[in-house]
Amino acid sequence: MAKYLSLNDMISLGGGLPSSEYFPFDEMTLKVPTLGHFSEKETHEEGTVITAGKFDLEQDKSLFDIKTAFNYGQGTGAAQFLRFIVEHTEIVHNPPYQNWQSTMTIGSTSAFDVACRMFLEKGDYLMTEEYSFSSSVEAAKQMGARILGIPMDAEGMLPSGLDSLLSSWNEAERGARKPFVVYTVPTGQNPSGATMSLQRRKDIYAVAQKHDLYILEDEPYYFLQMPDYAGSPDVIPQPPASHDAFLSSLVPSLLSLDVDGRVMRMDSFSKVISPGSRIGWITASTQIVEKYSKHADLSTQSPSGMAQLIMFKLLDEHWGHAGYLDWLKHMRTEYTKRRNVMIAACDAYLPSSIVSYVPPQAGMFHWMRIDYEKHPAYGKKSFAEIEDAIFMCSIKHRALVAKGSFFYADAGAVHDGMFFRATYAAAPFDKINEAIRRFGEALREEFALA
Ligand code: PLP
Repeated sequence: MAKYLSLNDMISLGGGLPSSEYFPFDEMTLKVPTLGHFSEKETHEEGTVITAGKFDLEQDKSLFDIKTAFNYGQGTGAAQFLRFIVEHTEIVHNPPYQNWQSTMTIGSTSAFDVACRMFLEKGDYLMTEEYSFSSSVEAAKQMGARILGIPMDAEGMLPSGLDSLLSSWNEAERGARKPFVVYTVPTGQNPSGATMSLQRRKDIYAVAQKHDLYILEDEPYYFLQMPDYAGSPDVIPQPPASHDAFLSSLVPSLLSLDVDGRVMRMDSFSKVISPGSRIGWITASTQIVEKYSKHADLSTQSPSGMAQLIMFKLLDEHWGHAGYLDWLKHMRTEYTKRRNVMIAACDAYLPSSIVSYVPPQAGMFHWMRIDYEKHPAYGKKSFAEIEDAIFMCSIKHRALVAKGSFFYADAGAVHDGMFFRATYAAAPFDKINEAIRRFGEALREEFALA
């Protein structure tokens, strides 16, 4: 019926859209950062006030208003805001084929859940990094999928690991068809912090072509790519001089290498604007996007219209594309400072005889390998008991870090290292420093070091 709604003089008694007359909202006012003045303090003191009215559209004040945004929408999200998202995707990734599209999601957690419904059948295997985002692993398992962890190094998933698994696949022995879906977080991977170089991405894509795989690219940390750690927290990173310099400093996404239409990229505003927005988007070929939006129509529907209106006002009307890129540059600089504080603290306080790490080049996570064979109880206690003892000792010292085993893609597989994950996303700088000092004390206690 929807297509007849816009006919001239149509009176609709057909659909169940409530009248906006009964929406108890007339105007919405937001105070947001003025371009170039992004800090919390500056925004509080001299932020810009933007307003959305109920009838801005019919009064020619805006392309989007409360009357429209607060009613039911399409599974794709509102066209007004989707246009910004598509333009942004084109600016940043410019997918190298014609019929790509984007559609909004209610965040990447949900986008992954929908993708599992679309691509997997009960008993299928899903391939992912051997340490993977635990909520995705759980979501796939709940859908009846089995998970295969692909070995990793400091750049993430190993193409050779993926290739050898698939080249030697034996359907009868495995009791499942050859896997064809790979889920990966190429940038600032959760939990390992690993970032794939361009060559690594190309090699993964080549394996995907060889075995005809479909790739689910989950990239909430894409814009938090940082310069190398310079050895001191006092070296304040200079932001890239221009938008072009910023964009070309980013490792190209798998989507931007996707000449076949075999990548569904999941983007999210959660880590760069606000998780509470519950707005993200996927980009893929038309066939996949159409299927996705039909799933959305029947489950999540569109992201909240209230959230879409807020994001539209901020990103499209207030900042524009250039302003949003400025904000993303700002976020990158802020996270670089945080990363630097954490690495400096690790260098200062962790016993190097048992802890090793590579400073992360993106994202929010620092991944530390512990030489557990040097633990006094090694040989007497199991791996899990030693890991738990370290975890509990750190809690006793009041520093909470995550166990590597929380992130096993396949808990039954053999794992050759013991890891802990620390995030520099949340705590203030001095608390990051203090927490790592406490973690160092806990390690010294557990390993009976001086
Ligand atoms: N994907 C990864 C790899 C994450 O680390 C997270 C958050 O921790 C998410 C997705 C969640 O994204 P969203 O808030 O868009 O659901």
